[in-house]
Amino acid sequence: MSLHEIQRRMTAACATAGRAPEDVTLIAVSKEQPEARVLPVLEAGHRIYGENRVQEAAGKWPDWRDRFGPVELHLLGPLQSNKARAAMELFDVIHSLDRPKLAETLARLAQDLGQCPQLFIQINTGAEPQKAGVLPDEADRFIADCRSLDLPVIGLMCIPPVDAPADRHFKMLAEISERNELHGLSMGMSDDFETAIAQGATHIRVGSAIFGARH
Ligand SMILES: *Cc1c(COP(=O)(O)O)cnc(C)c1O
Repeated sequence: MSLHEIQRRMTAACATAGRAPEDVTLIAVSKEQPEARVLPVLEAGHRIYGENRVQEAAGKWPDWRDRFGPVELHLLGPLQSNKARAAMELFDVIHSLDRPKLAETLARLAQDLGQCPQLFIQINTGAEPQKAGVLPDEADRFIADCRSLDLPVIGLMCIPPVDAPADRHFKMLAEISERNELHGLSMGMSDDFETAIAQGATHIRVGSAIFGARH
């Protein structure tokens, strides 16, 4: 368990970037990790976690929330419309709002439920055909459409292409965010969170560097 090492590196990256450490939220990505690796991080007091799948998260977090008290849960993976209600009941924040149909579903369910998780819009900064996310050219329009549905959009999220330097993608995300007056930037994972902090990340999503490699 390397929670404290990652916190130390975050603080150092903030200092280098001239940013306040409390302006960056560490999401510990517990997807696919065995309980024996997650419990020590819960016991160390960390209360902000990320998961990729609604079903997997629903199988473990209600129990852990009973045992450890309130935990802020973030959904990072793609969300199918038919799982949207379950996701809204379980997660505090959803990072994968990526298409008009999902926006409409979330808006309708928000009316029904009388509440809605905070939302990040996922941008496909590399315009990769196999990857989820709104294309950069369509981002401004999609953000405006989400706002007109009254959705609580707090920022943008990206997963840069695996084989490219992440910087350029983080910069692009920050530019789209700035011109749309959004504040949240969900970017940076185990291998590049320090670069993301230098580019303005407000939420970093770190899994294997805290818990160890997934199988
Ligand atoms: C798995 C995952 C992460 C964490 O990845 P690590 O490389 O283990 O830090 C972050 N964000 C998303 C969207 C993920 O799917």
